[in-house]
Amino acid sequence: MSTPMNKPGASGPASHGRWNAGWYARARRVDSPNHGHRPQGAAIDLVVVHSISLPPGEHGTGDIERLFTNTLDFDAHPYFQTLRGMEVSSHFVIARDGTLTQFVDCDRRAWHAGRSYFRGRSNCNDDSIGIELEGLEGGDFTAAQYAALMALCRDIAARYPIRFIAGHEHVAPGRKHDPGAGFDWKKIRNNLCDLGWWFPLDH
Ligand SMILES: [Zn+2]
Repeated sequence: MSTPMNKPGASGPASHGRWNAGWYARARRVDSPNHGHRPQGAAIDLVVVHSISLPPGEHGTGDIERLFTNTLDFDAHPYFQTLRGMEVSSHFVIARDGTLTQFVDCDRRAWHAGRSYFRGRSNCNDDSIGIELEGLEGGDFTAAQYAALMALCRDIAARYPIRFIAGHEHVAPGRKHDPGAGFDWKKIRNNLCDLGWWFPLDH
């Protein structure tokens, strides 16, 4: 926890210019109220990949955005009863067509991982960036989503000292199962291997 955060714009490739502080210029911005301070000196070295679809199995409903902005009508669908009162967020959501939306400033702490432990540290929200892929846990994801995710990861790497990428299932084993078996970690690793990150396939 002693490594300081990267200084934006201090050095590095041109993709620094794709950031406005912790906001990614290539994403549609929708502000979630669900965020907080990161601990002082937190090294943001982890990307956590999730999957979400609301209601489960349905796409493009707008309900993910409503959940993350605390405007979801919990009575609109029986499944939403399980979400009642939850205040959650993720830095990014990638829709089925690859559309990228950012809900929380990456310099801030989003509320996506919950109780979690990884690389010897708990509370992964403190020092991670959360990316939700629209899709069913265990299901597959679209080529447009992989392309958007890989481009985003490269630009995240230009601004933050990321060393690890893992699924929610890896940081909260037994409690969480997303994105699940349908997510192609090899595809991601093969594309991003030059970044030197740890992938869930490496052990
Ligand atoms: Zn998750």
